[in-house]
Amino acid sequence: MRWGGHLDPACVLCDGMDETRDHLFAECLFSRGVWGMVMQACQERGRRKSLRATVVRVAWCSYLYYIWQERNGRIHGALPRHKEGVTLLIRRAVASRLKGCVKVVSSSLAFAADWDLV
Ligand SMILES: [Zn+2]
Repeated sequence: MRWGGHLDPACVLCDGMDETRDHLFAECLFSRGVWGMVMQACQERGRRKSLRATVVRVAWCSYLYYIWQERNGRIHGALPRHKEGVTLLIRRAVASRLKGCVKVVSSSLAFAADWDLV
């Protein structure tokens, strides 16, 4: 399925495959790299699964938003961001959305601090 509206069918994030919805959000090496870094930050320290699940849910929405924004920016001539830069935007969005809104117990304090939720 083609979508989007710009004429070049190649994905602007990886400059490789044709841009489809599935490619952009699930298969693209750039996007997968970003999501991999986000998920890495979601591992280990979080014992309180509900907090982790909340972070993953908000991070996923932010991921969709910032991958789409990065794609549009590149099409319209903005300087491309590195995967680390997009990951940082996602992490900031999660913190902005959840800081002060989630209950943090002592066992998940390190996880919450890593995500700047406390
Ligand atoms: Zn791609």
